[in-house]
Amino acid sequence: MLIVKEEICREVIGRTEAFRAVEDVFAAMASGKAYNFPVIREAIGYADALYGFKSGFDKAGLVLGLKAGGYWPGNEARGLTNHQSTIFLFDPDTGQPKAMVGANYLTAVRTAAASSVSIKHLARSNSKVLGMIGAGFQSAFQMQAALEQRNFEKVIGWNLHSEMLSRLEETASDAGIPFEAVDLDRLGREADVIISITSSFDPIIMKAQISPGTHLACMGTDTKGKQEVDAELFAIATVFTDEIAQSISIGEAQHAIAIGLIKDTDITPIGAVINGDHKGRTSDDEITLFDGTGVGLQDLAVASVAVELAIKHGKATEIDL
Ligand code: NAD
Repeated sequence: MLIVKEEICREVIGRTEAFRAVEDVFAAMASGKAYNFPVIREAIGYADALYGFKSGFDKAGLVLGLKAGGYWPGNEARGLTNHQSTIFLFDPDTGQPKAMVGANYLTAVRTAAASSVSIKHLARSNSKVLGMIGAGFQSAFQMQAALEQRNFEKVIGWNLHSEMLSRLEETASDAGIPFEAVDLDRLGREADVIISITSSFDPIIMKAQISPGTHLACMGTDTKGKQEVDAELFAIATVFTDEIAQSISIGEAQHAIAIGLIKDTDITPIGAVINGDHKGRTSDDEITLFDGTGVGLQDLAVASVAVELAIKHGKATEIDL
């Protein structure tokens, strides 16, 4: 079995590799060649931790495995990342373990790749202003990946905890793009593309605040009860997702579904757009929304590429089990 450490993943996987892996696996999911198994996520009643598994099989890429991990709120005080993830890959022909891969960095790049794929396929081609809602750990990865998809001239941002906005300012500055902190009315009015990546349990951005033609990538809602977008805004948007089953149960769609504003048949897998089976955006006035819930196959896809590249560069460690 091979071991690929966190630091090796950082060395071998960049945004381009992550983007390609995630776009390909979304396409495979939509054409029925790859599927996610039901997610397990439990409060373990110890250390306030949430722990679980995301898993699946990609028959097109022959990738089988699972991501184990969760959220330990006390980690920060110990100098560790609160979110902890490890991926295990198995040989689909024999079931033998193939690789164990450190997945904290991979989780960040695969999540950023998902919103970036949605911007590529759904945002207006003339998008100039990127709006960021959220300024936590993931936000920098999100912004960097998004900036590669359009000729953005400016980033504007809002965060509940304003002291965290410096992360957005520094990330934009590193990319050579001006940044301005704004209120939510201005953010909704001026942004052509909005990414939300927060831990909110209440809607942050409302229907009345959004301009026609906006593309929203809602990335924070990955658990029952979380919410970033007003259900009425959700209902007027053309909605796409990574996986419909997750979107309606743990994603942003759970709220609009619960109050009967939309049905699951109103939601399209982004892979259908990638495959050319759905036309995606149809006018410059349409509001499009990507509900990015985070699926196990995204994790397995980037881990599989990390293993391949680590082997190629002689950076995978082999052990006997
Ligand atoms: P983080 O803890 O570093 O940052 C949290 C962010 O949420 C900060 O911007 C904070 O100000 C904001 N926030 C916290 N409570 C809030 C509230 N009540 N209302 C509004 N904003 C609030 O977390 P992170 O690592 O940046 O992750 C952000 C979110 O993205 C988390 O909820 C995480 O579960 C989710 N996430 C989703 C995916 C996916 O695939 N969809 C992947 C990874 C993380």
